Amino acid sequence: AKTNQRGGYEYFTRNMGVEIRERVLLMHALRAAFEHERLFLVYQPQIDMRTGKALGAEALLRWRTDEGKFIPPDQFIPIAEYSGLIVDIGEWVLRSALYELVHLRSIGYTEFQMAINVSQAQFSHPLFMQSLHKALQDTKAPPEFVELEITESMAMKDPDLLIKTLHQIKQLGVNISIDDFGTGFSSLSHLQKLDVDKLKIDRAFVNDIQQDASEGSIAKMIVQLGQNLGLTIIAEGVENQMQANTLQEYGCFLAQGYFYAKPLTQQDLRTWLQQRTQP
Ligand code: C2E
Ligand code: CA
Ligand code: CA
Ligand code: CA
Repeated sequence: AKTNQRGGYEYFTRNMGVEIRERVLLMHALRAAFEHERLFLVYQPQIDMRTGKALGAEALLRWRTDEGKFIPPDQFIPIAEYSGLIVDIGEWVLRSALYELVHLRSIGYTEFQMAINVSQAQFSHPLFMQSLHKALQDTKAPPEFVELEITESMAMKDPDLLIKTLHQIKQLGVNISIDDFGTGFSSLSHLQKLDVDKLKIDRAFVNDIQQDASEGSIAKMIVQLGQNLGLTIIAEGVENQMQANTLQEYGCFLAQGYFYAKPLTQQDLRTWLQQRTQP
């Protein structure tokens, strides 16, 4: 069955039955993996398509089992959310990514930005702001080079809490982007009220971009919406030159995708950056 990232409860009840055993096993395995440091981060560069310059990267979580098997985040993040493990894992992700940002700055990449995914359960946790504040203090990461990616669906759950939390995040100086934009329409009306900096066009809409059917594409509409609201726009999942060209015609100049770079290990990111340009 297809997993539902939105709500652990709904997710679990919908999948009740033969699969539940498997899920519980996976939950225990995930907890053990986290404790035994089997989780790690990879970093996918974000590019200015006009110049080819890397502006930053998005941190993405990976799980490699003892047997060397990779379990995709789409499979284990919903379980981490349901079990509440995401709070500890998410905090570890945040700190690890901030430390990497600080390291990259120390070797000369002083304009580099780090984007970090934050899930619903993590975000709505009463101690979230405190742990964000502490992570910034402990790592000495500059907040203006940090971006939190939240999803549209969070806005639907509890708009008032979201508005309040986003405001607090902005006061710390941290940037906010809306991930997978366009996949959860209902929050569109809230968008104006939300203190966000950037929209990420979901990879499904980038994938939809066709050679000559560019009129009326959803990607184009999102770019226009973002421009009207004065937001930065980045496209994810850019896989070829045609998509890159079309997005730029629309007015979207930032991109992330296999066409430019796959998610890279910590070491590979450092090497990749050094091979491109001296800082
Ligand atoms: P996402 O935030 O939308 O991340 C983008 C996904 O698209 C990543 O998959 C990335 O590897 C993939 N991708 C990037 N470029 C391309 C491309 O050109 N073509 C294709 N086909 N795919 C591309 P990944 O790493 O498997 O992550 C899946 C999802 O898991 C993420 O979607 C995010 O929702 C979640 N996730 C990953 N890491 C974390 C984390 O640390 N915390 C939380 N809460 N969620 C995470
Ligand atoms: Ca993301
Ligand atoms: Ca995304
Ligand atoms: Ca996506």
